Amino acid sequence: MEIDLSRPILARNEALADKNRARLATSGVFALDVLASPGAGKTTTILATIGLLREKLRIAVIEGDIASKVDAEKVKAHGIPAVQINTGGACHLEADMISRALDALPLDDLDLVIVENVGNLVCPTEFDLGQGARIVILSVPEGDDKPLKYPGIFAQADAVLLNKVDAASFFDFDETAFVDSVRRLNGAAPIFRMSAKTGEGVGEWAAWLEARVAESHVAH
Ligand code: MG
Ligand code: ZN
Repeated sequence: MEIDLSRPILARNEALADKNRARLATSGVFALDVLASPGAGKTTTILATIGLLREKLRIAVIEGDIASKVDAEKVKAHGIPAVQINTGGACHLEADMISRALDALPLDDLDLVIVENVGNLVCPTEFDLGQGARIVILSVPEGDDKPLKYPGIFAQADAVLLNKVDAASFFDFDETAFVDSVRRLNGAAPIFRMSAKTGEGVGEWAAWLEARVAESHVAH
């Protein structure tokens, strides 16, 4: 007989995630969970997205990292409220961490909270945070085979962002193979080609996000 120790932890997390979801809905806030490997460009993508949406939406950011507050400082430097969560070693965010971060934000004065999860393509997938949507960012230098190696996150994502397309000529990235792999796992998620650095494609992605936020307001 095998005992699955992860089950009670995940069940407890699920209950707390549902509480977060209810609380966010009450305040009319849409939460976006951003997953990617370290170095894929999560913070840069978040800042580029905020640059396009900040006149239309009231935005805050929750930064998850094992250590440091570098990313929260970067976001705050743009005049956007940010809360840093240091997991102290844990390689993913959990719903109770988000609950405490939400305590520090003026939820009734916000439309969108962007959560930058810890850089990791594996276990953040297992932990619901109470988000309205979850996206995965893959950058060109990481290679087109990542959906084959980390199918869980690509199957679950509501949108897939292919970042650093401006660097495509320096890498052997087979974009057709990448899109085919994603499509085998996930028929529904839009795939956005973009470069957070040059701004290419960020508008299409930001428009999708803006529409999701608007839909969530209609739904409540
Ligand atoms: Mg970051
Ligand atoms: Zn983890």
